[in-house]
Amino acid sequence: MKIGFVGLGIMGKPMAINLVKAGHEVYGYDFVKESIDDLVEAGGHAASSGKEAAEKSELVIIMLPNSPHVESALFTKDGIAEGLSEGMTVIDMSSISPVASVEFSEKLNELGVSFLDAPVSGGEPGAIEGSIAVMVGGDQDVFDKYYDVLMVMASSVTLVGEVGAGNTTKLANQMIVAINIAGISEAYSLAKKAGVDPENVYKAIRSGLAGSKVMEQKSQKIFDGDFDPGFRIELHIKDLQNALDSAHEYNAASPFTALSMEIMQSLRSHDLDKKDHSAIARYYEMINNQTLQ
Ligand code: NAD
Repeated sequence: MKIGFVGLGIMGKPMAINLVKAGHEVYGYDFVKESIDDLVEAGGHAASSGKEAAEKSELVIIMLPNSPHVESALFTKDGIAEGLSEGMTVIDMSSISPVASVEFSEKLNELGVSFLDAPVSGGEPGAIEGSIAVMVGGDQDVFDKYYDVLMVMASSVTLVGEVGAGNTTKLANQMIVAINIAGISEAYSLAKKAGVDPENVYKAIRSGLAGSKVMEQKSQKIFDGDFDPGFRIELHIKDLQNALDSAHEYNAASPFTALSMEIMQSLRSHDLDKKDHSAIARYYEMINNQTLQ
């Protein structure tokens, strides 16, 4: 299939390369020329704009940071919308506001173009291995048509509802992860203050009700003080802002999300926003004047 791919960053580039490896004809565009060169080296094609990526393709996939980037990539001069024609499909795999997804979908539908929002989890390793989890919002028939293409990049692709539902699901995921990291950091801080080794606490409780994938993947980083990303706090701040905006839009009070957001804002003030989100533990170290290592 001829596929336009706009946004060849940490996630988008390996995802686009996996499509090439599966035999698809991929036309890639990004502001960063080196990223396009890497795609071409892997067997893909260069596009000089979002418009050209769309003109050459029947499907356009987008993988950009946030709603304003997607809006600009779609509707700016020489943007994707200018190269679209009736009957085509746009799949936005960026993690953005579900309210924005619905807006973009409505605008594209007016051009006779169908739309899915399809954010992912799994991070850079998942993007490279082709094992990300994709949560999709949109119509069943569009989902069915592109399921196999999405599965090239993923280990699971799930339709969760109408357009916007993919990003609502992703926000739910991000809320749970942030609150969970804060929870384990707070508990390990109490243990340390009480003279109990947090690592022993982890070993003792990990298989019980308090255990979680977050506990498994983040505890050792906290005990080692290794906050290399992984998933950067600045991206998690973006997700929590979208979660709070959506919560306010839909009247869903979300106090723990708001608190997690303020913890991350404090870390940003300490220049830690490029660190992994497990650095939430650093916030507890600061307010309790101790380390967890
Ligand atoms: P990134 O910053 O590495 O890549 C974004 C790319 O978009 C950059 O290469 C940038 O040059 C390009 N870009 C920005 N605006 C553009 C435009 N108008 N036209 C063309 N190119 C443009 O980001 P990423 O880590 O790849 O994340 C992409 C999305 O995936 C985000 O929404 C993020 O929240 C989500 N996500 C990231 C991870 C992760 O671990 N990095 C995991 C899951 C989901």
